[in-house]
Amino acid sequence: MLEKIQGHQTITEHLEKEILTGGVSHAYLFSGIDGVGKKKTALEFAKALLCMSAEKKPCGHCSVCSQIEHGNHPDVQVITSKQGETTIKIIQVREMISGLSIKPYTGNQRVVIIDGADHMTPEAQNSLLKSLEEPLSYNLFILLTSHPQSILTTIRSRCQSYYFHPLDNDLVAEILKEETEYDRESIQGVLHQAGGSPGMGIYLLENSEIQNERKHCLRDLYSLLKGDELKVFSLADTLSKDKATSEEILVFLIQWFYEVGLLLQSLELPGAVQPDKAHIAYLKILNYEKNQVILKTLFDMMMTLQYNVSLRLQWEKVFIKIMETQKGYN
Ligand SMILES: [Zn+2]
Repeated sequence: MLEKIQGHQTITEHLEKEILTGGVSHAYLFSGIDGVGKKKTALEFAKALLCMSAEKKPCGHCSVCSQIEHGNHPDVQVITSKQGETTIKIIQVREMISGLSIKPYTGNQRVVIIDGADHMTPEAQNSLLKSLEEPLSYNLFILLTSHPQSILTTIRSRCQSYYFHPLDNDLVAEILKEETEYDRESIQGVLHQAGGSPGMGIYLLENSEIQNERKHCLRDLYSLLKGDELKVFSLADTLSKDKATSEEILVFLIQWFYEVGLLLQSLELPGAVQPDKAHIAYLKILNYEKNQVILKTLFDMMMTLQYNVSLRLQWEKVFIKIMETQKGYN
């Protein structure tokens, strides 16, 4: 039924079973890193619920399936922050809610997907809460998020939660090969940085400047670890452009030091990928304990990102801590 979704078999099997037994919940929370397949799964799930085919659902070619695919089915809404804005505002949620009491146009099911649900302002979340508390039978909500901890506990507790794991590099490579025109070498080149997310892999392939930015960051961080203290400020300066950049590079660095940690323990990298030159350089100057402290420092920064903090200051703190760890001051 949901065979188009690759790599999240446990989840898709659960969802299929719910459809077949009539046990579909009224609210779901799909969490996991960006680009891992949450939205695709939500849309396939919506198709499976609404498809008009008498046999295999979703058929993929009836008018319903194709409208959902193209984002213009009246009973499947995707809400996300408006272009140029970082939050989903209460007015967007109110607008959506005002339509909820009207029966679905074409069937007996409406699916509302909130993409980046953690971007809802607290007011927007509270306003959504009411609809989750007193659900109408034909409304189904799917909240997508890479930061479930930023969503109100009262909302989370009303949703059935599924965590989407990062995929194996082998599978990411396979998906990128199917979905893009890039050659094997280019695909191999982004696998490490994609961190188990096909969506991130595509993004990197299409935006080669980001790959360069990451390479620069690793190079500067290496100099910092070798004792170049000025890099604390130049790195903090480059990375604190905006919250999205900070978040993206942070996820990348966490993945990076996680991999270095695996290699320091003589373990294989995910997907049995061979370490590259940068991995080997880092291995020579770090030990496992120091690497763990660096990872924790980066995770701590991730937690602070949900608050309104000075990014530059946070990055400076992170790099000072990393420098001190390397010198053995911690
Ligand atoms: Zn169909």
